Amino acid sequence: MSTRANPDATAGAAGACFAPDALLPTGWRKNVLIEWDLLGQLTRVIPDAVCPAGVTRADGPMLPGIPNLHSHAFQRAFAGLTEYRGAAQDSFWSWRTLMYRFAARLDPEQLEAIATWLYVEMLEAGYTSVCEFHYVHHDRSGQPYADDATLALGLMRAAKHTGIGLTLLPVLYQTSGFHEQPPSAGQARFIRSTDSMLALLARLKPLCDAQHARLGLAPHSLRAVPPASLSAALAGLDSLDPTAPVHIHIAEQMAEVTACQAWSGQRPVEWLMHHMPVDRRWCLIHATHMTPDEYASAARSGAVAGLCPSTEANLGDGLFDLPTWLAANGRWGVGSDSHATVNAAEELMLLEYGQRLQRQQRNVLASTAHPHVATNMTLSAVAGGAQASGRAIGGLAVGQLADFVVLDARHTALRGLPATDGLSSHVFASHRSSAVAEVWTQGTKRVQSGRHALHDASLAAFVAARTALIDHA
Ligand SMILES: [Zn+2]
Repeated sequence: MSTRANPDATAGAAGACFAPDALLPTGWRKNVLIEWDLLGQLTRVIPDAVCPAGVTRADGPMLPGIPNLHSHAFQRAFAGLTEYRGAAQDSFWSWRTLMYRFAARLDPEQLEAIATWLYVEMLEAGYTSVCEFHYVHHDRSGQPYADDATLALGLMRAAKHTGIGLTLLPVLYQTSGFHEQPPSAGQARFIRSTDSMLALLARLKPLCDAQHARLGLAPHSLRAVPPASLSAALAGLDSLDPTAPVHIHIAEQMAEVTACQAWSGQRPVEWLMHHMPVDRRWCLIHATHMTPDEYASAARSGAVAGLCPSTEANLGDGLFDLPTWLAANGRWGVGSDSHATVNAAEELMLLEYGQRLQRQQRNVLASTAHPHVATNMTLSAVAGGAQASGRAIGGLAVGQLADFVVLDARHTALRGLPATDGLSSHVFASHRSSAVAEVWTQGTKRVQSGRHALHDASLAAFVAARTALIDHA
């Protein structure tokens, strides 16, 4: 088996790994042997196997890697820096003003340094892939760079160097509000015509293919993209790749719901379902404020609900009603969004805790098949995250990529416990320490003993970038 820390996401070696306990899509199994080919795709997943000579034995439970389905990489650099009261009542909108001031100063080298460290953090925290919702496109004066793809290419390099799987979602952003309000000065770096977006996608498509990354499109929100532009962009995307992922922020804040009703007579999700061909390639980010009818119609479309529990809590968005969504057979995954928290297990914990507080119940997100909440949530987040990512990362099954995590059986959270309880303890009782020992993507080990090979160098570059950005505040 290959155990080298290979910094190149596109190169790999065929390999195998044996785990005394592994979480397969159907649940926990004992003595599981997995094998993968040169492309890092699983060719065999065999439970109740004997560990062949020469194959390394995992030193703890093996889990599928969790896809991170929503990230704005640059926001990592000011995570934790907006936790003070500026106005009498701070809100998402006052946070956004601070975020715009920060985004206005960023340069390409800083973005790449921030993203590289962030992706190292994600891998060390049990995420094996990321959907990058990328909306800072232009230079500090709001003009396109000489190479219009400059910032997107920096994000792609960060993913390649760290080895995290990538779904790149360039963002279409045109207006500051409904009724085609012109963009504000703070939005100048985000703005693109539909033609300019389609040209960018055409440029990036072969580059993403070569990197085994998936390219999709993110219309920022209904307030930022007029209907005609949304339709034209989707048609252009279809001609490039008719199954490419489409992600959109929707109904995150009540002010947006009210403004959408004033504009169209409909709520955001209601409008989207009536006017756009929403199906299983779509991911509805946040979708926090929906009526029962909206929950039913959006779930019926096959779209994934992209939930970002730590960011939604941090920004005071509100709570998504996940039990109602599940009752309608809705799919979901998790994202770290503004990166107030970068920890897959912690997102699952916060998601369950929000539902417990709301309903005054326990173990809300368990199922009949999987009564252990952490097991059920991990499998759901992997399945929904894979669908939203548009990549073959749906867990430990033949045909999927060898993206997996090995927990440390010697960590206090797991020591002496069976694997099912160990995962529960990892999610609910890690006490802000981490039991993630190894992380593999596409059959290559990226994290060993909890550390990525680029940990120290990328941390230093991140701190330098953050310091420079703050010094200019
Ligand atoms: Zn977002």
